[in-house]
Amino acid sequence: MSHLKRIYLESIGIDYQSHSGIMGPEEPSAPSPGKRDALEALREEIGDCRRCPLSAGRKKLVFGNGNPDAELVFVGEAPGKEEDLKGEAFVGSAGQLLTRIIGAMGLSREQVYICNVIKCRPPGNRDPLPSEIERCEPFLKRQLDILDPRIICALGSFAARTLLRTEERISRLRGRVLEYNGIPLVPTYHPSYLLRNPHAKRDVWIDIQKIMGILGLPVSGEDDG
Ligand code: URA
Repeated sequence: MSHLKRIYLESIGIDYQSHSGIMGPEEPSAPSPGKRDALEALREEIGDCRRCPLSAGRKKLVFGNGNPDAELVFVGEAPGKEEDLKGEAFVGSAGQLLTRIIGAMGLSREQVYICNVIKCRPPGNRDPLPSEIERCEPFLKRQLDILDPRIICALGSFAARTLLRTEERISRLRGRVLEYNGIPLVPTYHPSYLLRNPHAKRDVWIDIQKIMGILGLPVSGEDDG
C-alpha cells in the first residue's frame, strides 16, 4: 500500500492494518488455551535451565513471545544483550528493525510469534556452538510443533541451517520456499546483518513479500526501508 493511500485511509478513519488480509484485525483475539497452555508447560519444563554452559552467563532465558495462534513465526539466532536483560526476543536494535519489517507487512508484533534457536545469550554475542544448538534445538522443535504456524521465516543462517538441516549458505537459501516438517519455511537475512549491510534490505523485502503472498496479505511492492 502506498504511503499516500495509507494516509488517505487513516484520514478517513479506516485502520488499514485491519484490512491486511487473512491474518485479521490488529487486536489479537484471546489465544486458544490449548496452544497457550502447551507453551507455558514447555516453558516450565525448561525451567531455570542448566543444560549447557550458557546458563552460567545469562541473566534471563529468552523463551519466545507473541501470539500462540500466530500464522507466522520468526526464528532468530540467539538473544543479545537487551534480550538477555529483558527476557524477550528481538527487543534490541535488530529487534527494532524486525518490528519495522513486521509493520511493513501490515502486521504487529502481537500478531506473530518470535523466538530463537538458542534460548540463552552467548557471551559477547558470539556465534552459538554446535553443542549449544544441539542442546537447545529440541525445545525449539517442540515450540514449533505447538505453534504449528502456516509459515516460518528463518532469520539468518543459524536458524535456516538448523531448521533445514543443511550447511548451505544463507545467500543461497534466502527467498526460497522450503519446508520444515511440512510447514513452508522462507529463510532471509538476519536483521543484524541488515544493520551492517543496509543494501540487503531490498532482498529481505523481496523474501518478506513472498511470505505475504503465501499468507494472502496484500503486497504493494513498496519498500518502506
Ligand atoms: N538476535 C537474535 O537472533 N535474536 C534476538 O532475540 C535478538 C537478536
